[in-house]
Amino acid sequence: MATSNNILEINQEEFENYFETSKKPIILDFYSDECVPCEALAPKYEELANLFGDKILFLKIWRQKNRALAQKLGVFSSPTLIFYDINKNEVGKRLTGAIRKKDLIQQIKLLLGEEYVNQILASKPKQKREVDVIVLGGGPAGLTAGLYLGQAKLKTLVIDQDLPGGQVKITHMISNYPGTGEPISGWELAERMQKQVKEAGTEIISAVDVTKVQLNPKDHVVWIDDEIEIHSKAMILAMGSEPRKLNAIGEKEYSGKGISYCATCDGKYYENKDVVVIGGGNSAVEESLFLTKFVNSVTIVHQFDHLQANKTAQEEAFKNPKIKFIWNSEPRKFEKTPDGKMIVTIENVKTKEYSTIETDGVFVFVGYTPNLTLIKEELKKDQWGYVITNEEMATNIEGVYAVGDLRSKRFRQATIAVGEGTIAAMACEKYLSELKIKERELLGVQ
Ligand SMILES: Cc1cc2nc3c(=O)[nH]c(=O)nc-3n(C[C@H](O)[C@H](O)[C@H](O)COP(=O)(O)OP(=O)(O)OC[C@H]3O[C@@H](n4cnc5c(N)ncnc54)[C@H](O)[C@@H]3O)c2cc1C
Repeated sequence: MATSNNILEINQEEFENYFETSKKPIILDFYSDECVPCEALAPKYEELANLFGDKILFLKIWRQKNRALAQKLGVFSSPTLIFYDINKNEVGKRLTGAIRKKDLIQQIKLLLGEEYVNQILASKPKQKREVDVIVLGGGPAGLTAGLYLGQAKLKTLVIDQDLPGGQVKITHMISNYPGTGEPISGWELAERMQKQVKEAGTEIISAVDVTKVQLNPKDHVVWIDDEIEIHSKAMILAMGSEPRKLNAIGEKEYSGKGISYCATCDGKYYENKDVVVIGGGNSAVEESLFLTKFVNSVTIVHQFDHLQANKTAQEEAFKNPKIKFIWNSEPRKFEKTPDGKMIVTIENVKTKEYSTIETDGVFVFVGYTPNLTLIKEELKKDQWGYVITNEEMATNIEGVYAVGDLRSKRFRQATIAVGEGTIAAMACEKYLSELKIKERELLGVQ
């Protein structure tokens, strides 16, 4: 991995030396090879090292080759950033996973003071870039579009607010993606997809804040981290969807602190515990079955008196001794006891009676909502808020395509998203070449 003049690549012995002698605060970055979040962090780390390298010692250490130090410092994943002040006390929180620039800046403010950091950041010139196509969202739909556009030699940028891979990367195993031969972990499939996209020449910018989007025919604009302004003639919207919230009392407060929307991500924390699942569709039932690998019991709370999941999933759930059901009920309130148990107040929608369930954790699977909050322009949508396109994935705004889970349709799967990414990329290429011809004609160029 390349490092700039302001970042020192070191080993354990050198770290101990620098730690003893440095007169500056230190940031230590444990990285690994073949590590998607490390690759996403690298340009941000380098940019901030260039800005603050005279005041902070930016270090980088290869975790696999310096295991003893990693172990000593309690570092178990890459990347992990540790921050030491001038007195060599660790400050703030360690940053891991998909690290955003704003989190890194927040930590630097702890080392150098808010005023100084803001002053340096304000003096930095804003960047402006231009590409042929911006693909917003790097799930299977956006990555496939990026792959085809890269292979068509169009200057393409895939931008994701998280690491690329979308919902696939948080899916435990995928068994219906053709060509993998056998079930493949979602994380691995996502990694393979993004590698192939990069090899096709498409740039991926990930773990960034997309702060604004403007869809103006022939000049679409995306702002990243409030400082990079990117223009393109065509745009593919591929931001997928996110779990629908219940809007019950306490849901927001305990989200991530007892309430989860992802069994693959959080199931492991409930080994031999009791959990409640809210919902009764495919996701709720399939994820409940997955949770039974870890937990002692799953209580499914569903608003109707029957499940809406597919027949096979239903049959498996009914015969699983770990799964119980509470019918005709909806959650109204979430609370937490001082010893960390969740209390779920539910209402029986038929009798209107309230009751409570004490549990270790709650998983909510009540459907999805398209990620379109950034788009302020009048996109044509269906009654559920999903984007309506024609068969070429074109929306009602010129040069704007919509693909994958945010598109209006009956079924949502990775394989479908991939197909739509393909169509949009091909249609987009055609649109751009026709636009070029028109522009040349207008200019009178042969
Ligand atoms: C638990 C689970 C299991 C599944 N199992 C399967 C399966 O076995 N087989 C199958 O084919 N499908 C499966 N699916 C469905 C499949 O994952 C989705 O249909 C597919 O991922 C949709 O792809 P997408 O690219 O449209 O959206 P997503 O995968 O949702 O990707 C959207 C991307 O956009 C990014 N994004 C969101 N907002 C913004 C923004 N404002 N700016 C920039 N980036 C943004 C997100 O970070 C994300 O990376 C499963 C889904 C779930 C939840």
